[in-house]
Amino acid sequence: MKLKNGIILGAIVGFTTNIIILLFLPSRKVVCRDGWESPSIGIIGACSHHGGVEQDTRLFFAFFFSVFLGLVVTIWYISKQYKEDEKIRNIKEAKEKERLEELKRNSPSCPICSNYMTKRVAKKGKYIGKEFWGCSNYPKCKGIINIDLQE
Ligand SMILES: [Zn+2]
Repeated sequence: MKLKNGIILGAIVGFTTNIIILLFLPSRKVVCRDGWESPSIGIIGACSHHGGVEQDTRLFFAFFFSVFLGLVVTIWYISKQYKEDEKIRNIKEAKEKERLEELKRNSPSCPICSNYMTKRVAKKGKYIGKEFWGCSNYPKCKGIINIDLQE
């Protein structure tokens, strides 16, 4: 998606740049390669005895400049997106870490393995619907603390 958007953006920028250059490029008198000028120049064959029609090299420069600009914009866009993604990932990781630290601070330690515990709700048995502390190592460790009994 990032790649696709970047390429589309680059193509639009390159295309638009080329159009703008062509629109604002001052028109140049068409001449033959050897400098010959005649009223019929520009019509096919008119310069055949004068080395052919002189190419307007500005058009090539305009084209290559537009392609170059499009590429630069594509690379800039994609790298910007990747940097933003990384920033978001870092923030998410930091928040997750903080949440875990908070959880560890505010929870008792497991009576079996002394790891931190998380609050859970019983899904079955006679305490169904009641909250209890379950070991964070579950299902490896089955240590629990019943909140109702604690209070
Ligand atoms: Zn445990």
